[in-house]
Amino acid sequence: MKAWEKNVRRVVPYTPGEQPKQKNVVKLNTNENPYPPAPAVAKKLQEIVYDDFRKYPDPNASVLVDAIATYYGVGKDQVFVGVGSDDVISMAFLTFFNSEKPVLFPDISYSFYSVWADVYKIPYKQPALDANFQLVKEDYMKENGGIIFPNPNAPTSIAVGLDVIEEIVKANSDVVVIVDEAYVDFGAKSALELVEKYDNLLVVQTFSKSRSMAGMRIGFAIGQPELIKAMNDVKFSINSYTMNRPSLELGVLAIEDDAYFKETCKKIVATREWTMKELTRLGFTMFDSKANFVFATHATVPAKEIFEALRENGIFVRYFNAPRIDNYLRITIGTDEEMRTLVNFLEKKLSL
Ligand SMILES: *Cc1c(COP(=O)(O)O)cnc(C)c1O
Repeated sequence: MKAWEKNVRRVVPYTPGEQPKQKNVVKLNTNENPYPPAPAVAKKLQEIVYDDFRKYPDPNASVLVDAIATYYGVGKDQVFVGVGSDDVISMAFLTFFNSEKPVLFPDISYSFYSVWADVYKIPYKQPALDANFQLVKEDYMKENGGIIFPNPNAPTSIAVGLDVIEEIVKANSDVVVIVDEAYVDFGAKSALELVEKYDNLLVVQTFSKSRSMAGMRIGFAIGQPELIKAMNDVKFSINSYTMNRPSLELGVLAIEDDAYFKETCKKIVATREWTMKELTRLGFTMFDSKANFVFATHATVPAKEIFEALRENGIFVRYFNAPRIDNYLRITIGTDEEMRTLVNFLEKKLSL
């Protein structure tokens, strides 16, 4: 061991889904939106003045903050933006989770949470979802240093009602409760309406899934002004210029085209319902999905085998080799054609 090695911050990093190099694959493994961003984004891209890249972007990201505040009907001082919601949630961990008591999140949820807790040396506990992968609210009524969970949950796709969320937020007025709503636009009810009532609630959303902008890296949090100010103080203590110029300009147009947003979400929901019916016909069972993916297990064929067979044939889905979920596949909802390709392969080639 080299002398300096004892001072290295040791972490086991998060493993993102595979981004295959080859073209012509059916990519259903990272919950990207199969449709392009709003048409106005393409138009604006032509008009972006490249000479402006010499200059720093607005550290306050004002145009984007204003557009998000207007869209959701909240104050500009209630919106924090970051480089994807991964950046936003990481900032929130650093800002709000500074207790000796453990932060709580479900045993089956977004696997980045434990990575952030580890890198920031935050103690945490992971209460188990019940046998049907439902959140047990009583587990979040115990002493803790903060709470975070996705709604709908990932990778289970299951949504929890606002009544349960409100009970958890209410019972934990001494800590910050973060609801990670990465998939909320595909059918769950947002906790945004509770933000006015509870000063300890932070709602996080992203442009990556429902707004087709994963590659631009835009995420945001909405909460009462005190929460947002605390996050901005931490952000401005690390890197003032997190949002690059094109993201700011293009993000505004992505959120302004509400009709396109609603239309693409509706299409994905319709494709999801079709996919669930077809997968059921082929012997899969899955949870009632409120997300742009389904979490499915097959009656007779192990998930890992299906995952590998699909992968060899250029169809990428996500498989987690983790306790309790290692016989499930997380399948992103793509276009109708992509889902037909998947179903045909499962039926004809795998004879499911
Ligand atoms: C995709 C995802 C995120 C992060 O998305 P960004 O691209 O960083 O905005 C956060 N939470 C959950 C549960 C996700 O699935």
